[in-house]
Amino acid sequence: MERIDLHTHSTFSDGSCTPTEILQAAGELGLTAVAITDHDNVGGIGEAMRAGEQMGIEVISGVEFGSGYRGRSIHMLGYLFDPEDELLNETIDWVIKEREKRNRKIAEKMRQDGIQVSEEQLREEHGTTSIGRPHFAEVLVKQNRANSIRDAFQKYLNPGEVYYFPRTFLPLDRTAEVIRQAGGVPVLAHPFQYRFSDQERREWMEYCRLIGVEGLECRYSGYGELQTRYLDTMAERLGFCRTGGSDFHGAYKPEIALGTGRGSLEVPREFLDDLKNRWEEIKK
Ligand code: AMP
Ligand code: FE
Ligand code: FE
Ligand code: ZN
Repeated sequence: MERIDLHTHSTFSDGSCTPTEILQAAGELGLTAVAITDHDNVGGIGEAMRAGEQMGIEVISGVEFGSGYRGRSIHMLGYLFDPEDELLNETIDWVIKEREKRNRKIAEKMRQDGIQVSEEQLREEHGTTSIGRPHFAEVLVKQNRANSIRDAFQKYLNPGEVYYFPRTFLPLDRTAEVIRQAGGVPVLAHPFQYRFSDQERREWMEYCRLIGVEGLECRYSGYGELQTRYLDTMAERLGFCRTGGSDFHGAYKPEIALGTGRGSLEVPREFLDDLKNRWEEIKK
């Protein structure tokens, strides 16, 4: 079976590998298609496409937006859009400004506790505008305030902890609209990560179908057979196409491997064909 990975993060957000390094690793694994889906950033797509071309691996455009729904933050993936699209890039600029405001609060609070860090310094060090909590987590690990990124989140950065500050999200329907008008396909990321009851999850999926979301991430690191079967059924019932990916972040999530996730992930090539078919359909 040909395998692919449609959910990965690079140094253009909170991943530790460059797009080229991800494509090299994908080549070693024998993956035949990859999408880089950085948080609120499309800067890595060009590099990924060039590396993919050299290696004979198909690269499609990808992005992952945080967006708001009923007081929750929901992640929405976008695929096959035009990375140069004006409204998409304006939207990213807005999201990055909201990140920046939140990041300044985190940095200030950390400095009050004697940890030298600033938004500007993180941007410079990482060479990206999409700075997030994982980068602050890394600072906490380096300064021996936490043992790991995960530990730093648990002690300091999760909601309710001292360095947590909320940020404003674009609403879910607006996010889907922006992706669609850029010629892309909106897809719901990791549907089991949001602490919904079964009833709430169902309502959410139905709502998403109504606002123009076209796909459901039906394969994801750590999702077992029952969860996978449930997602396949919901995709069929509600008319979503299926996608899948590892959510690889390199050293920021060391337990997750490219392509295979927590070990048993398999995303079949057919999912990409279905995604492209859907793309053709909605473009009509
Ligand atoms: P932000 O968007 O800046 O609020 O950061 C959220 C991102 O942090 C998520 O998209 C994940 O990539 C990462 N993240 C959240 N929780 C954890 C955790 N416990 N361990 C490692 N990474 C996490
Ligand atoms: Fe992330
Ligand atoms: Fe996500
Ligand atoms: Zn992700």
